[in-house]
Amino acid sequence: MNRSLVALLLMLALLTACRAAPAALPTAVPTAAAPGEVATEQGSANELPTATIPPIAPEATPPADPPPAATQPSAVEPSAVQPPDRAVFAAGLIDAERAVLDDFPAAPIYQMAIEIDESLAIVRGRQTVFYTNLEDTPLDALYFHLHAKTLGGLITVTDVTVDGTAVIADDTINHLLRVPLPAPLAPGAATAVAMNFTTIVPTEIGRNYGVLAYYEEVLALAHFYPMLAVYDATGWNTVEPDVQGDLTYSDAAFFLVEVTAPANVTLVGSGAIVAETTQGDTQTITYAVGPARDFYLAAGDFAVTSATVGETTINSYAPSDMSQGAALALEVAAAALTSLNERLGSYPYTELDIVTTPTSALGIEYPGLIVGTLRMYDTELTSQSGMSYADILESTTAHEVNHQWFYNLVGNDQLDEPWLDESLTSYSTYRYYADRYGQEAADNYFNMFEGRWAMVEGEEIPVGMPVAEYEEAEYSAIVYGRGAVFLRLLEKTIGRETFDAFLRDYIQQFRWRVAGTAAFRALAEEHCACDLGPLFAAWVYEE
Ligand SMILES: [Zn+2]
Repeated sequence: MNRSLVALLLMLALLTACRAAPAALPTAVPTAAAPGEVATEQGSANELPTATIPPIAPEATPPADPPPAATQPSAVEPSAVQPPDRAVFAAGLIDAERAVLDDFPAAPIYQMAIEIDESLAIVRGRQTVFYTNLEDTPLDALYFHLHAKTLGGLITVTDVTVDGTAVIADDTINHLLRVPLPAPLAPGAATAVAMNFTTIVPTEIGRNYGVLAYYEEVLALAHFYPMLAVYDATGWNTVEPDVQGDLTYSDAAFFLVEVTAPANVTLVGSGAIVAETTQGDTQTITYAVGPARDFYLAAGDFAVTSATVGETTINSYAPSDMSQGAALALEVAAAALTSLNERLGSYPYTELDIVTTPTSALGIEYPGLIVGTLRMYDTELTSQSGMSYADILESTTAHEVNHQWFYNLVGNDQLDEPWLDESLTSYSTYRYYADRYGQEAADNYFNMFEGRWAMVEGEEIPVGMPVAEYEEAEYSAIVYGRGAVFLRLLEKTIGRETFDAFLRDYIQQFRWRVAGTAAFRALAEEHCACDLGPLFAAWVYEE
C-alpha cells in the first residue's frame, strides 16, 4: 500500500477532525422554573416542541421498579444509603490494576438504576452519589452538570435527598443542578446524594456530534445523568461546554449501573457485566466500571465479534451487514492496544468495547468504550475526499484507543486544556503507525497533521488555549494538527528515549488524577534536565 498517498488522503479526509463540525439544530429551551425549584417532569416536557418528544405518560411518574431478577439477585439496591462494596469493580480491572480499589478510598461512587422505555428515547433513573469532601474547605452544596440540556435534550430531576433528608435542588442555573447540603460538609466527611431523573433524548443528530441521540434506531447515551462537577483550584468548575470538542471534565469515579431495557436490543456499556437477566420482553444488565470518568451506553441491533489482548477482551459491535468494518475496527484496536500496552503501560480494564453509531464525529472516546461513526464501516467505499473508509476507520479507531490513556487514565480539563488529551492522542496515534508499520509509514501519516495545521495557513496560534477561544476551523487545525507537530518537536528536542520515559512517568504519576499544562511541562523538564520554557512559550502558551 502506498503510505504517502494514504497520508495525503488522510489529510484531506480528516480535516473535519476526530469531531466533525456540529450541525445547527434548534435546542429545547425550557422556561426557567421559579428559583429554587426543580421543574417537574411533565411541566418541562410540555415546553419542548412536540414534534421532537416521544410519547410520555400524562402524569409525572417515578421510575418503575426494576422487574424481579429471574435467576440472580440484583447487584444494585438503589435506595441503599451505604455505598456498594468496591469488590464488585474488580471484575472490570486487570490483575495489576486491582490495587487501585484501595488507593482511592474517597473517589465518588455512582449507584444507578435506569430504565430505557420502549421508544428508546426516554430514560428514567434513580442515582445515588456517594461523595467525600476531598477539599480543605467545608462545602455547602454539590454541583452537577445536566449535559442533556446542553445537548438539545431534556433532563428533569426530582426527589433529591441528602443522607435521606429531602432538599430543594436548583436547576435554573444554565445547565447545572445545585444540591444544597443541609449542613456544611467538613473536609474528609462523606455524604450520599440521591435523586430521580428523567432524560428525554434528542431524536436528531444535534450539537456536539449527536453524542446523546436516538437516531436511525441506535440509542447513543452519553452524559445522560446528573454528573458531578469538579471542585478544582478555583472552586466548583461549572464552565458550560462549547459547541465543539468534548463536554466533560470529571474526576475518576466508580459506576455501578443497572440498566433495564427492551430485550430486543443489544446493550453496549462501559465496564464489565456483573449481573444479567431476561424476563419476557425485558432485559436487565448491571455494569461495573471504575475508576472511570463517565459511564456510556449504546443500544441497537448489533452483532459482535471479539478478540483478546493480554487480559483484555475487545468486543466490536456493529450491524450485521457491517461485519467487514467491525472486523477491521477489532483488528486495529487489538494492534493499538498491543502497541500502547508496551509503550505507555497497561490498559487497566478487562474489556474494551467498540460500537458504531450515526454520530457526526468520526469517533468519540468513553471509558472502556470507543464509538466510531457508521459511515466509516462501509470499508469497500471511498469517502468524498477520495480516501478509503478503511483507512479512515483505522486512523479513527487507533486515535480513540489512545484516548484511553489520555483522557480516561490521565484526566485533564477537556474544556480549558483540550490539547492535553487531543494533541497527545494525535501524537501517540502517529507512534501507533510507527509501531505497526515502521517509521517511514508513520512519517507519511504524520503529514496529515502538518496538513491540518496548514488549514489555518500555519498560523502560530497557541495549542494550549480553551476550546471556546478557538474559531471553528482553528480548533481542529491547532489542537490536533499543530499540537501533534509540537509534541513531535518536543520528542526530537529531548530525544525519543527520554520522551518515552517521560510519557510513561506522566501516566504513572497522574494515573486516575487530573494533569495540567504546568505539571506536564515540569515533569518533562525533570526528565530532560533542561529548560523547556522557550519551547512552550513558542507553541503552547497564550501571550
Ligand atoms: Zn480525540
